[in-house]
Order: sequence, then C-alpha cells, then structure tokens
Amino acid sequence: MEYLILVIIFIFGLGVGSFLNVVILRLPEQRSIARGRSQCPACGRILAWYELIPLASFFALRARCKSCKAPISWQYPIVEFVTGVLFVVTWYVHAYSGMTSSQFPISNFQFPNFYFITQLLSYLFYISVLLVIFVQDFRWGVILDRVTVPAIVLTLVFQLLLSPTIVPLTTLGLGMLIGGGFFALQYVLSRGRWIGGGDIRLGALMGAMLGWQLVIVALMLAYVGGAVIALPLLIFRIKHLGDALPFGIFLVPATIITLFYGEAIMRWYFNLVYIV
Ligand SMILES: [Zn+2]
Repeated sequence: MEYLILVIIFIFGLGVGSFLNVVILRLPEQRSIARGRSQCPACGRILAWYELIPLASFFALRARCKSCKAPISWQYPIVEFVTGVLFVVTWYVHAYSGMTSSQFPISNFQFPNFYFITQLLSYLFYISVLLVIFVQDFRWGVILDRVTVPAIVLTLVFQLLLSPTIVPLTTLGLGMLIGGGFFALQYVLSRGRWIGGGDIRLGALMGAMLGWQLVIVALMLAYVGGAVIALPLLIFRIKHLGDALPFGIFLVPATIITLFYGEAIMRWYFNLVYIV
C-alpha cells in the first residue's frame, strides 16, 4: 500500500512536470498557458495524445519529432522525472517525519486532516515554482516577475492558512525582508552589476517559504554550492572571473534542500559551533 502511494505520487509528479515544461517555455514569450494545443516547435504540427505522455513519449520517439525529425529538447524528460522524484521525496519527508519545518508543528499525525493536506499541497507548489525558476534561469538567465510575484502571493496564502497564530507571520515577514533585502543591498551597492532585480524577488519568495531562520540557512547553502561549482570552472578556465553565472541555479537547489532538511542542517551547524 505504501509503495502504491509512492508510485501514484510519482506519476502525478510526472504529469505536473509535463505541465511545468509548458509553463517554462510559454511564460517568457507571453503565450497563453491554457490555450493552444502542444505542437512541434520546429514544424508546427499539433502533437497527438500519445506523443504527450510524460517520459514515455520522449524515449519512444527517440527524442525526435515524428514528422520533421527535429530533435526534442532533453528539458522535457528531465523536468518530468525530477518533478516526479521531488514529489515522492516531499511525500516521504512529509508523511513519515510528520513535519519538515518547526513553524507549524503537527504533533499527532492524522491523515487526512486539513493541515496535513494543506502543507503537502504547499510543498508541492513550492517545488513546482522553484523548478520553473531554475530552468528559466539556467537556460535564459532570467527570473521572471510573472513567476515570482504571483508565487509570493500564493505562498503567503498557504502560510496564512497554515498559521494559527501571529508569531509565524512575523517570522515570514522577517524572512522576506532578509531574503529580499540581502539581494537588494547587493543590487544597490553594485548598481545592478552583480545581480539582477529578479534575484531580489526570488530572495523574498525564499523568505516567504522558509521564514527568517531557514532563509539564512538556504543563502549559506547557495553560496557554498556556488563556490564548489564555480572554483573548478575558474581553475580549468571554462569560465573566467567576471563571467556571470545565474545565481538562481544555486538558490533554487539550496531552497529545496532547506525545505526538506533545513531544521537538521541548523541543528548540525549549532552543535558544531557549540563543540568548538
Ligand atoms: Zn516537427
């Protein structure tokens, strides 16, 4: 039964991932997400239903359009697969450790109660939005306000639904201030050379999702990750100092890891500090 639930969640994730691919590709062009059937970007042929099955179609078609043989982007299967995996991880962390964040502890696990469902949905939503931001920043170096601003609003709605008292809201407000302010400061100091305005909105979104303690954890993780990736690129002269690496590709994985394991990382870090 438990495995069956995991399989169902994975397949659900594949479907959502397939939708995220449409969002990722259509939003920068201001095309409608709801209207217009999916078509081959090369020859424009409307795709049949059996060409739109997540993962399966890509491999069955051997990554090529059936009529014009134009290659199909690897983005499709990768985003679908990663969404499926992250949805399974979300379910696993959520259902088995009860809670992942100290902000809204559920002491006695009751399925399906309002908090359980709402929190699960909020996490699936966060993961989905973060994946869209990651791919768009990775491929085109943009973090769109059309993604971050509605995401901040919806995140706050989720947090309001989940928050029985006023205390967590101040935590979130402070989180948005720290997350957004951190990048706003760099933006002002560098006159927009180090980072873009999109990073400020992403920072605020991270703060809304994580609260002020965990947003600091996520920022630290992003810088550690950035250093680990950037140093070899510099040493082997694949990239040069002054080259821009979109920072969203570090912020997004850091945020996802913090959503799942931020509490544990914080405990580990403070234990380390106290021992020394
Ligand atoms: Zn085609």
